[in-house]
Amino acid sequence: MASFDIAVIGGGIAGLTAAHHAALAGVSVGHFIADGMPGGLVMNVGALDGWPAAGAVGGAELAAGLLGRNEELGVSLVPSRIDSIQAKTLSGPDGTWRTKQVIVATGASLRMLDAPGAERLAGRGVSQCAWCDGGLYRDAEVVVAGGGDAALSEAIHLAEFARSVTIVTRSEMFRARRSYVSRVADDERFKLRWASEIVEVLGDKGVEGVRVRDNEAGNDEVVACNGLFVFVGLAPNAGLLPPDVARDERGFVVTDAHFETASRGIFAVGAVRSGYGGRLTQAVAEATTAAEHAAARCDD
Ligand SMILES: Cc1cc2nc3c(=O)[nH]c(=O)nc-3n(C[C@H](O)[C@H](O)[C@H](O)COP(=O)(O)OP(=O)(O)OC[C@H]3O[C@@H](n4cnc5c(N)ncnc54)[C@H](O)[C@@H]3O)c2cc1C
Repeated sequence: MASFDIAVIGGGIAGLTAAHHAALAGVSVGHFIADGMPGGLVMNVGALDGWPAAGAVGGAELAAGLLGRNEELGVSLVPSRIDSIQAKTLSGPDGTWRTKQVIVATGASLRMLDAPGAERLAGRGVSQCAWCDGGLYRDAEVVVAGGGDAALSEAIHLAEFARSVTIVTRSEMFRARRSYVSRVADDERFKLRWASEIVEVLGDKGVEGVRVRDNEAGNDEVVACNGLFVFVGLAPNAGLLPPDVARDERGFVVTDAHFETASRGIFAVGAVRSGYGGRLTQAVAEATTAAEHAAARCDD
């Protein structure tokens, strides 16, 4: 059975950074990347906000650069999903591995809207990637569900193509970067539906509209549109961890200040972690700290 000093699970920016810093610390590193595809949530984001670089950087470009550098540092890339971690043994569909320390950087998955029609019309007008599908909606009416950073940044990208972008959010204010909020407030192509939710996605072969419920007024209205982009939160990819590793009430993994779980030798960083701030730079900071702590433990 192959073994590593440190196993890093997940090929998003947190995992790539953890593998990088563990390798710099001089220990053997196995990096498990599901399907060998790095990048995670930012894979399709064409221009990252808040990433400290001289010019615009896309998610795929950032991930590919980190992956290449890790290879040079001697990180062993294992193109496999991990389904369980038991007593420092990792198991997945492609095999079993031993490790001294594990850094779980499995991130989170975008939640789909829980409304009739949403699943049925996924890929036929319902999308979760404006950078992939936005160009299909030139001069069209689109709706975005959500009110956080991801929803607003994707809505702003959609406005480069669409005639109008209606943003439907359950809250009475956005929970997003102020710069995004100002952009949306200052441009009349954005139409805002506060305290509202999409209760049905309408259409036969493709999206023709959404039924929006105004939770304050208590009435429903059909908004005609050709595309619906859904950014209504994240679900943690934490199912591989043993059940005795604590999760918060939403399923995100609980850690201490060094990003170690209550199970010694199992660390969790980035979007899978309870309390993660949501920015790539925070994922990088967490991954660096965890990798250095895990590497220091390898001699114990
Ligand atoms: C649309 C959108 C735009 C964004 N734009 C920005 C931005 O401009 N700037 C910014 O700072 N932040 C942005 N964010 C937030 C940012 O994407 C996240 O905070 C960050 O990507 C989290 O990285 P991560 O590595 O923790 O998790 P993820 O990116 O979720 O990566 C986790 C990886 O682990 C893999 N994985 C899951 N389970 C397993 C398993 N069992 N075995 C092996 N692999 C597994 C997943 O497939 C995935 O590749 C954006 C988010 C979204 C949704």
